[in-house]
Amino acid sequence: MKFLFRLLLCSLVAFSAGCATQPTPTPAASTAPTAKPAPTPLLLISIDGYRADYIERGLSPTLTGLAKEGVRATGMQPSFPSLTFPNHYSIVTGLRPDHHGIVNNTMLDPALGRFSLGDRNAVSDGRWWNQGTPLWETAGHHGLRSATMFWPGSEADIRGRHPDFWKPYDGNVTPAQRVDQVLAWLDLPAGERPSFLTLYFDDVDHAGHTYGPDSAQVEQALRDTDAALARLVQGLAQRQLLDRINLIVLSDHGMASVPPNNSVMLDKVIPLTRVELVSLGVLAGMNPTPGHDFAKIEQQLERPQRHMTCWDKTRVPARLLYGSNARVPQLLCLADVGWRITTSGYVAKKNGNLSLGEHGYDNAAPQMQALFVAHGPAFRQGAMLPSFPNVDVYPLMAHLLDLPAAANDGDYQAVKDMLKPEAQ
Ligand code: AMP
Ligand code: ZN
Ligand code: ZN
Repeated sequence: MKFLFRLLLCSLVAFSAGCATQPTPTPAASTAPTAKPAPTPLLLISIDGYRADYIERGLSPTLTGLAKEGVRATGMQPSFPSLTFPNHYSIVTGLRPDHHGIVNNTMLDPALGRFSLGDRNAVSDGRWWNQGTPLWETAGHHGLRSATMFWPGSEADIRGRHPDFWKPYDGNVTPAQRVDQVLAWLDLPAGERPSFLTLYFDDVDHAGHTYGPDSAQVEQALRDTDAALARLVQGLAQRQLLDRINLIVLSDHGMASVPPNNSVMLDKVIPLTRVELVSLGVLAGMNPTPGHDFAKIEQQLERPQRHMTCWDKTRVPARLLYGSNARVPQLLCLADVGWRITTSGYVAKKNGNLSLGEHGYDNAAPQMQALFVAHGPAFRQGAMLPSFPNVDVYPLMAHLLDLPAAANDGDYQAVKDMLKPEAQ
């Protein structure tokens, strides 16, 4: 079925590299290897921090247009914790953070030391990422080219491989420049053109943190990001590609409003000198330090707390699917939605200027639900789907590119109905 669909597409549009160069099928007796036609290109777009309900605000006309001509989910459930790096890597590996090893934006590993978003050495060190197999790696093994206009993990050399084209993360590259780079990659000659591409926007997340999800600044970021999508759609249409490329537009998590005074001061609850603090924010992580009675601290914190819940990593609720990875700190404290976990020292350093929006919370929280819209020749038109877990995107993408999916936590059966029957 899928082959027929591709064949039909090739004869109709003759766009993709393989379509143009595909030799006539060889007779059964021949032993000559048959080159597979290149698949319809797939562009995966992330709008960081785009909460599922933002699309109802009427500020994303291009996105709404894509959803009308394609499919949209009422929401997509992020993996826990609902943070940027863990979720972007879940989307391209199909693995929960516990299984792909990017368990937080900030981590400690006994052998590798500390990992943080802003640490270029850590972010580009493949040893942090190699518990998962990103889709671009599998694509490379099967002769498909990939290009990433930013994506967590793409800067790392994972088992000797990067995407064929990738960029070190630089927040100063404008949304329009990012779009133009993707279009330039699609303009490459057939043999060089990537089949799997990513594009990443972060203005909505920034505005959501700094001013809160209900701010005028988030509204402006939604407009600006939609304008970038409009530039993309126009560029694709000019190239007669709009109906010949599969687009998935999604986000990694939502955003919750956190009033300035909603702070749990961890130093007021336990003596911080007695623990090794790995992360703060929505999900605080702590490890034992030699010479201190960690069991006592755990006992204290695991008792009911105001505005947060703490667990030893072995006692995290099963539905969060979190705690088995060695990089997860021994003790975790998760803030209630709308609260942050911080310290008096940090608040003083920031002069009380704390972010007014946060994510990282329980992935079942309505405020954490993410965006999912898809458009293109493989997708049904005008379909609205129920929410699904973001690890399902990986087997969907592997199917679209006709690649064997690596072992993953996703479920293709749960999402295949968003595809036209002939593309399933
Ligand atoms: P957070 O909101 O703390 O989960 O982090 C999200 C932020 O990380 C984004 O708003 C970007 O500024 C930044 N970011 C996104 N991708 C990368 C990357 N590949 N490398 C470093 N920082 C990134
Ligand atoms: Zn994010
Ligand atoms: Zn964020």
